[in-house]
Amino acid sequence: MQWVAKKDFAIAAVFTALAIGSFATLFTGEVSVESSPPPTLTCFDPQSASLRVTIAEQCNDPLISLGNSVLSESATVDGEINSLHPLLQARFDAAQISAQREGVHLYITSGFRDQERQAALFANAIEKYGSETEAAKWVLPPQYSHHPHGLAIDVNYPGDRPGALWLEKNGSRFGLCRVYANEWWHFEGVIAPGERCPAMAANALVDIPDSAPIS
Ligand SMILES: [Zn+2]
Repeated sequence: MQWVAKKDFAIAAVFTALAIGSFATLFTGEVSVESSPPPTLTCFDPQSASLRVTIAEQCNDPLISLGNSVLSESATVDGEINSLHPLLQARFDAAQISAQREGVHLYITSGFRDQERQAALFANAIEKYGSETEAAKWVLPPQYSHHPHGLAIDVNYPGDRPGALWLEKNGSRFGLCRVYANEWWHFEGVIAPGERCPAMAANALVDIPDSAPIS
């Protein structure tokens, strides 16, 4: 009998604790058991040139997935990066189709570049601008540039700015942002589709860590 009494006491204690606990949460307002909203995915319908947000894990054919996050490196199975990130390509394709509907011609003039090509462009820029620091404001050396990682595109360069302006104005819907104040042609997938683009950096020097040598 004593055991039963102890058990009853234990049960009563548990209920008391629960009651106090819920009273405390009520009091402090920490009742919230809401789970965070499910991650959303942005899909593009190429036929209607419209965007749809879904909580599904994938975009059903013929919709094209534009992803749900900032784009970062995506190597192939052998570890090589030799093309644009597939979601950056998809975001550009979606933007291009949408621009076309408004009579705006949007096209990539430089996307993925291999390390050698980027090194050659940087060497040319040093000649043109007179120093590594001045050159890197326009063309980063291969270890810092996002082009050899397949994460940057240059559009409508050099002579066709209206298309790039369209992308600057509309790109965030597709997850594309202009990132440098001195380069109207350079875009990256630095947001999830539908988010706001961050403020632009003055130039590409922002991508070189403070204490790092430029080349
Ligand atoms: Zn660029």
